[in-house]
Amino acid sequence: MNHRSLAFRLAFWYALLLSATFALVAIGMYFGLAQYLRSSLSDSLHRRSEQVEQILTEASAGITAQQIADQIDTRVAPEFNNRFVRVTRAPELLLYRSGHPADRSFDPASIAPLAGPWPPRPAARRVSTTDGPVLVGATVISATSGRYLVEIGSSLEPVELVQDRLLSLLGILVPVLLACAAGGAYLLVQRALRPVEQMSQTAAQISVQNLDARLPVVATGDALEELSLSLNHMLSRLRESVQSSRRFLADASHELRTPLTIIKGELQEIVRESDCPPELRERIGSTLEEVARLERLVSGLLVVSRLEAGEAQREWLDFDLGGLAASTVEQMRLVAEDRGVQLDASGLKPLTVRGDRGRLKQVIVNLLDNAIKFTPRGGRVSLHTEQRPRIGVLEVRDTGIGIPAEALPHLFERFFRVDQARARGGDAAEGGAGLGLSIVQSICTAHGAEIEVESTPQVGSVFRLKFPRPPSPVSALVPSTSLSGPVHPATRTEAAPASSAAPTALTRAGATRAAATPA
Ligand code: ADP
Repeated sequence: MNHRSLAFRLAFWYALLLSATFALVAIGMYFGLAQYLRSSLSDSLHRRSEQVEQILTEASAGITAQQIADQIDTRVAPEFNNRFVRVTRAPELLLYRSGHPADRSFDPASIAPLAGPWPPRPAARRVSTTDGPVLVGATVISATSGRYLVEIGSSLEPVELVQDRLLSLLGILVPVLLACAAGGAYLLVQRALRPVEQMSQTAAQISVQNLDARLPVVATGDALEELSLSLNHMLSRLRESVQSSRRFLADASHELRTPLTIIKGELQEIVRESDCPPELRERIGSTLEEVARLERLVSGLLVVSRLEAGEAQREWLDFDLGGLAASTVEQMRLVAEDRGVQLDASGLKPLTVRGDRGRLKQVIVNLLDNAIKFTPRGGRVSLHTEQRPRIGVLEVRDTGIGIPAEALPHLFERFFRVDQARARGGDAAEGGAGLGLSIVQSICTAHGAEIEVESTPQVGSVFRLKFPRPPSPVSALVPSTSLSGPVHPATRTEAAPASSAAPTALTRAGATRAAATPA
């Protein structure tokens, strides 16, 4: 149980308040009942006392003790009524004392005489005897026959028994009521907070990728409903602004492609002209390299913005990712050989995944391109697939320069490059724009795949993609040889999408994890 939770704290304070109320009620009940029982006993004693007082008042001056005793026995019958009666004439002559009561609730002899002077007004006292407590009332009267102290008593045991019973009943009832009330309050508060919990769960799942999602609106007609509505309006506004900036990026990169192609064409035309001086040719050559870089950058931006703007999801098929990786390796073998890097596809086994073949080929191309680019001559790049119980894994391993631990958390950010010099690989034509891994991540996210990176500087890196297992077959396995011909890294962000269009937004969430091993 979470002791800091709102439900717990509310239930705790509620229980505390209730305990104080219950305690006050219980105390009031206990003392009120005791007071009531004692006063009704006193009233009854008072009535008996009046009978005795009347006998004494009416008695003539020469009345004997025996005559008084007879009259009391006849008119008051203390033994029969379970009462104690004692009459003392001033100064200290005991005239009468009743015998054992019929219920044997006390021994009259054990009730000590009143100590000290007689009370001026009727008074009652509690006397403890060996058989139990007795309430004794004392009244002083003056008659013609003398001055008398009349004491009438009755056992207090029945009264104290009722008090004890009430106490034990309250002792059981109050904690049980408290436990029920506190438990009930806890459950009620938890129930009342359930809509808030649902809202926070939904909010936790909302990211830039799925700004279409909305929080559940709780129809409580109070601040909670207002909060859910306001948050949903905020999400709508956010979605609009994110979409408009994505549209702007997509439009801008798309518009830039045509002038770039024209510039490139024009420059190539000038170089091809026979009268072009060698000096100018060289300068145009290096300008063309920059134009090529710019083209790659614009293409990358276009891909990222399309993916993020929720590119129409092409029909997803179940296909063999291992086969697709093997064919891609063959297409890139020439590039690897040029750079003196050995490509090893022996770890690739059939692995069925569901998704967009064209986009997933782009992922493999980008990872392979990086692995080849950042692996020195004589190094090795190998690919592996593995079918695990719930996921399919594709790994691209290299024995390259590795990635420092502090760069790993930023690896998938747009335009991030570990450092300019190594990213360009000393060759402007091949310098990346830092978009390759962003594209990989966007595609993986759309496919619900997780990316893990392990890297040790100067030892090598492993990029591990974990694909969810396709739930049930959507179509027959597609052969993995539909894309052929060598793929040059310069075209890597433009790998052709394969299948036909199906207008569903790419909104599934993915996750990226990165880990580094110190060198
Ligand atoms: P770029 O297009 O510049 O290669 P990426 O997004 O593909 O950008 O990669 C970002 C950075 O991550 C690269 O600049 C590089 O420094 C680093 N990187 C990516 N893959 C590897 C790898 N296999 N080995 C070493 N560094 C890598």
